[in-house]
Parts: sequence; structure tokens; C-alpha cells
Amino acid sequence: MAFLQQLRDPACTAIGEVGIDLTSNCSCAGQCPKPAECRQQVTRDQVTTLTTVLQGAVVEGGGRPVIIHCKDGGSGRAAQEALGCFRRVPGASTLAVHWHCFTGSVEDIEAWRQLLPNLHIGVTVLSLRAPSTRLALGGIDPSRLLLKRMPPTWCLREPGLESTAPGS
Ligand SMILES: [Zn+2]
Ligand SMILES: [Zn+2]
Repeated sequence: MAFLQQLRDPACTAIGEVGIDLTSNCSCAGQCPKPAECRQQVTRDQVTTLTTVLQGAVVEGGGRPVIIHCKDGGSGRAAQEALGCFRRVPGASTLAVHWHCFTGSVEDIEAWRQLLPNLHIGVTVLSLRAPSTRLALGGIDPSRLLLKRMPPTWCLREPGLESTAPGS
């Protein structure tokens, strides 16, 4: 994967963002003829990519943090799929991990913390929308939280549009 060759560049300071996004669409032109099958294929491809990147991070990452993206509209499935990738890659539990733009739950945090002792949680304005995520954030050691500034226009958007926002 060409992406992993960047790890040899000393200017590279972090890996990612990479992860699972169950809100993203397939690349079919026009109307998708098989949305369910396409959806599964997109997820499989994302799992493969994340697994490959984690393998590269373990072997060549040199301690650089891996920035993880998980988005699923609140179901928690993206976080489960991503954590499954960490479980399958030997040594991945030792990585420094930044789960960016966190929108998960208490259960997500517990499962991730158990496997990933060097986990940090990125907080954005999107993290503060769901009561379940606010509850989860309240239980995290503040030294594990990373605050991310967002463009002011984002704060004016309605909930539900976050999955289409760039860089989320
Ligand atoms: Zn499709
Ligand atoms: Zn993201």
C-alpha cells in the first residue's frame, strides 16, 4: 500500500486518519443497483485497509500515533469493526491511538480501553451532541482527551449532517 511507504519519511508524524465509516456511500455511478451488497463491500474494503495500516504501524510506525475514524450514525458498529481489526493484528494493542471526533458510547470506551492502554479520545463539537457520548466523555481521564477546534460554520449545522462534513 503506497500510503505505508510514507512511514519511511521522517517528516511523517502520525498515521491516518483511517477507519470504518458506515455512513459513506459506494462508488456506483447514478443510482446504486445493489445498496446492501455494495454497503457490505465498502465495509469489507475499509476493514482490509485498516488492518493493513495497523500491520504497517506495528512494523514500521516507530511509535507514531494512529488516528482512527469511526462513524456509523450512532449504532456503535463502526467502533466494533475497528476494534476487531486491532484484535486481529498482533502487536496493535501497543499502538498509540487517537480516536478522533469521538461519537461513541460508554460501552465503546470500555471495550477500547481494555484492549488499547495508549488510547486518546478526540473531542469536537460533534462529540457533544448525543447524550450517550457526553456521558462517555464524562468518565474519561481528562489527560486522555484531545480537543479539536472546528470551523465556526460547523457549529451552526443541524445534527445529522455531520457524516457529510469534510474531515470529520
Ligand atoms: Zn453501489
Ligand atoms: Zn474522520
